[in-house]
Amino acid sequence: MKRIFHKLESGKMVTPVYLFLLIYTIMALVWWGVLLFRQSAEITGYERENLAMRVDSLKRPMEYRLAEQRITKNEDLRTFKFIGEGAIFMIILLVGAWLVYRAIRKQLKLQQQQQNFMMAVTHELKSPIAAAKLNLETIRKRKLDEEKQHKLIDNTIRETNRLDQLCNNILLASQFENQRYQLYQEQVDLSSLVQAGTDEIAGRVTSHRIHSDIQPDIWVDADKFMLQIVLSNLVENAIKYVPKGTDIEVKLFEKDRLLKWQVIDAGPGIPADEKDRIFQKFYRIGNENTRSAKGSGLGLYLTRKIIEQHNGTIVVKDNAPAGTIFEITLGEYSVQSA
Ligand code: ADP
Repeated sequence: MKRIFHKLESGKMVTPVYLFLLIYTIMALVWWGVLLFRQSAEITGYERENLAMRVDSLKRPMEYRLAEQRITKNEDLRTFKFIGEGAIFMIILLVGAWLVYRAIRKQLKLQQQQQNFMMAVTHELKSPIAAAKLNLETIRKRKLDEEKQHKLIDNTIRETNRLDQLCNNILLASQFENQRYQLYQEQVDLSSLVQAGTDEIAGRVTSHRIHSDIQPDIWVDADKFMLQIVLSNLVENAIKYVPKGTDIEVKLFEKDRLLKWQVIDAGPGIPADEKDRIFQKFYRIGNENTRSAKGSGLGLYLTRKIIEQHNGTIVVKDNAPAGTIFEITLGEYSVQSA
């Protein structure tokens, strides 16, 4: 019994149990229908017997025929009622069953994604802490030359940045979930923000060549902290998912009176059928065991939420000859020197 409940909780038993209940309910409904038809035929039989006792068909043929017709009409009416009510009940049952099934499937999928998320987050939280601890212990215990010390310190800073980004994402996701996050909007020099953010990442990342092509003096009414998270999520993803030594470019420019903000890489790209899914909460391409880069599946979900809160859109396109372009479009902006 305990095992069944455990299986129910883990979702493995839900589909068979659900199917069993649905088939049982449909069969019970059909059986009720059969019984009702039988009962109706019995009623007709009794009424006919009763009529034969009450009215002599030879002496009063007209009255007998009329009563007979009434009995047949009543039976037809009952048949019509049973079929009509049965059909409506069956339709409601099937529609309800379909809706419940859809909700269960969605819930199970979310549950699976949450489990993956917990696995990923546990790893993501533990590994930078472990790396930072090891680096600091090495610095304390050994007499290292300055260059080695700097290397370890840089590595520790990188790990704490990763930790910081993950914590921000988790906190924000839960705040968005409870609709508790209030955007703090102000006039922001987006050009400077993107330039400074990209320079900061380019300064600490040696694995990729990070370039920027940013039109100056673009201002938006926005939440500065949120836009920093957007930039960090997109660029850190490119660093994570594209081969080392390749180029990553951040662009900001006006086109057709719209503001375009792009992060472009020359990595593996994103398959067409995944392009929309990657923005779902906890969604990660591939299987948790086969994925080499660790992550939480929250970055793009949050990025889209943030951009939508700023009345913008974000899409993912193919880069030529290879790679991905994440493109944000904002309609409300101004160009002015500071
Ligand atoms: P995470 O990086 O934590 O897995 P994200 O929501 O940031 O979560 O990304 C969702 C998925 O989209 C990633 O798991 C990855 O498979 C894919 N992805 C994101 N950015 C890129 C990119 N630049 N190139 C290829 N795949 C990417």
